[in-house]
Amino acid sequence: MSRVYNFSAGPSMLPESVLKKASAEMLDYEGSGQSVMEMSHRSKVYDAIIKGAESTLRQVMGIPDNYKVLFLQGGASSQFAAVPMNLMTKSHKADYVLSGQFSTKAYKEGSRYGDCKAVASSKEDNFSHIPSLDQNEFRPDADYFHICLNNTIYGTVWNELPDTGEVPLVADISSCILSRPINVSKFGLLYAGAQKNVAPAGLTIVIVREDLLGEPQEGTPTMFNYKVMAENESMYNTPPCWPIYICKLVLEWIRDEIGGLEKMEERNVRKAQVLYDFLDSSKLFKGCAAPDSRSIMNATFVTGDPDLDAKFVKESTAAGFVNLKGHRSVGGMRASIYNAMPPEGVASLVDFMRKFEAENA
Ligand code: PLP
Repeated sequence: MSRVYNFSAGPSMLPESVLKKASAEMLDYEGSGQSVMEMSHRSKVYDAIIKGAESTLRQVMGIPDNYKVLFLQGGASSQFAAVPMNLMTKSHKADYVLSGQFSTKAYKEGSRYGDCKAVASSKEDNFSHIPSLDQNEFRPDADYFHICLNNTIYGTVWNELPDTGEVPLVADISSCILSRPINVSKFGLLYAGAQKNVAPAGLTIVIVREDLLGEPQEGTPTMFNYKVMAENESMYNTPPCWPIYICKLVLEWIRDEIGGLEKMEERNVRKAQVLYDFLDSSKLFKGCAAPDSRSIMNATFVTGDPDLDAKFVKESTAAGFVNLKGHRSVGGMRASIYNAMPPEGVASLVDFMRKFEAENA
């Protein structure tokens, strides 16, 4: 069977060269006589893998030395709790912007650990754009200010970061990590589930400024304690060994085959442009996100007729374009076009949409 173009919001496609390399190394990783899945995380051979993953992440993202990189488990959803447990320790206040379902979940979870304030929301417009901000709503004594940089379900992205002054900016970057360069020094903390742009599910990356690593709130489980995880170089317990190994291969793919994050961004912008240009000229399909908030990772669109949407999803699946059904809260379709989606995948999808339009408009 030939491979399909998988437009899933995550877990999603991985670069073919990464899959081939992992497969070639499956039975005997670098002469160790075993696969990465089978080896001790305390072995010398695995130590080189986890250290290599971290150093390549630092190199590719340009992470300053005063930031710690943590390889954790529990998904981005665990960070909805871990962030307040570790950072909401002074004023016990935190500001949140509600730009979609995940940021709302983060806000609700955070509210269990302190005084969280929703300083802006675009819920009334079904999160079709990044909310406009009123700086007077921001609390200067908040322990942090939380945003979700790319809203996977709605297909929106922050193009300009909020100015939070001295208050550390915390961002969920699950669906845009490694999609383009990011100025890490503008953030106090970044976190991401790996299963979209980095690796298979099971790995969560946290990048945190060292001075924010203090004593967490009382009762914080050891596994959620950033300081403990940092002191143990993400090896307090058994780390997600296999996803960390794939993460290393994906980073090497970005660095060596793509040519770094600037090139990755150029490729992603070109891909997204092909799809958005078609949506803007289509007589049948219409993009859901406000043009100034459009994500280059997730594009949401509808025909306006739920039956026709369902027909499109059915026919596109049969043609080898899978997982295009939109999230239930938006309906319609969503094409997640993460890093590993080849440009030909998007071009072929647009050809298919054009044909569908001709037959159904
Ligand atoms: N945040 C964002 C932006 C997401 O897209 C997702 C999952 O799709 C999550 C958080 C939840 O991540 P996880 O399933 O790793 O907990």
